[in-house]
Amino acid sequence: MQTIAAVARTPKGAFSIEEVTVEAPRAGEVRVKIAGVGLCHTDLVFRDQFAPYPLPAVLGHEGAGVIEEVGEGVEGLAVGDRVVLGFSSCGHCARCQEHLPSYCRDFPPLNYAGMRLEDGSTAYSANGESIASHFFGQSSFAAQAIVRAGNVVKVEDADAPLEILGPLGCGFQTGAGGVMRSMACPAGSSIAIVGGGPVGLAAVMGAKIQGCTTIALVEPVEARRQIALDLGATHVIDPHAGPVTEALRGIIADGFDFAFDTSGRVEAIEAALGALASRGMIGLVGVPPKAEDAVAINIAAMITFGQRVVGIMEGDSDPQTFIPQLIAAHRDGRFPFDRLVQTFPLAQINDAIAAQARGECIKVVLIP
Ligand SMILES: [Zn+2]
Ligand SMILES: [Zn+2]
Repeated sequence: MQTIAAVARTPKGAFSIEEVTVEAPRAGEVRVKIAGVGLCHTDLVFRDQFAPYPLPAVLGHEGAGVIEEVGEGVEGLAVGDRVVLGFSSCGHCARCQEHLPSYCRDFPPLNYAGMRLEDGSTAYSANGESIASHFFGQSSFAAQAIVRAGNVVKVEDADAPLEILGPLGCGFQTGAGGVMRSMACPAGSSIAIVGGGPVGLAAVMGAKIQGCTTIALVEPVEARRQIALDLGATHVIDPHAGPVTEALRGIIADGFDFAFDTSGRVEAIEAALGALASRGMIGLVGVPPKAEDAVAINIAAMITFGQRVVGIMEGDSDPQTFIPQLIAAHRDGRFPFDRLVQTFPLAQINDAIAAQARGECIKVVLIP
């Protein structure tokens, strides 16, 4: 069938809105009519070839929608199901069996190859030219997407706002899961969160849910610091106002139990490390600007104070259980992620990227 998609054709080039052909779902796949799809920094990382991906491509990895067609051998999913699309995992390696699918042995090929691994085919084409698909097992910058069944999380709550649920499948579960699952910050603990984008603000909400009593956000944009205070942050710090370690030590002289970096910036991570308490833990989710970026850790201090540094993918989420948990928390008013979302028509994807770059919106959701 024909559908509309935002196609990435050149690194750093604008997305082009095109009519493309989408195949019927093959075995183990479903076709989803996309209701909304989040825009994530990772989409631009792959478009711009900071990480390799075949072009032309349909990117997009935070989709939500309704199943319209089910391929052979798919169990437990039916036409009409309302669904959120997560990332792909194999389902049977050691980490998948531990319900830690973001560390799946086959995560890179399943999510970043741009094709079906069985035969190299893609789900999209235009005028006989094949267009890379299966980005995070979904390629959902389109009105119709072919999705691996294992990516699909059913939404049982009929009142949940389907069109904005997609970012639960990546950005929001990364922030909330980092605090609620990877670090499992206990009630009464303190946390310093670096960066007030969608991931950092989801971490603020997650910290509030966990019962953290001191929640400090480091963020240069005033409007984002204000939203963080509304969402439960107890302190906010402008990193341009002075040294961040001192500002954090000014809040808790003995240091923070937890820190969570969403910026990927070496100096920000080092500043947060300097504000950790003994036995403190820092979680890293922000992708650095350069693959070779590294932080210097003082070995003696790390040993003396018993501190821990943890890398985190997708908030250690098992989407099948964690996304429904976040939807329930949203319904109860404890995870008001809708306040971070601004919607744009998919056809205005380039304007939406520009608006996000100018800091005018926190989380863009594109509506086909
Ligand atoms: Zn696996
Ligand atoms: Zn993402």
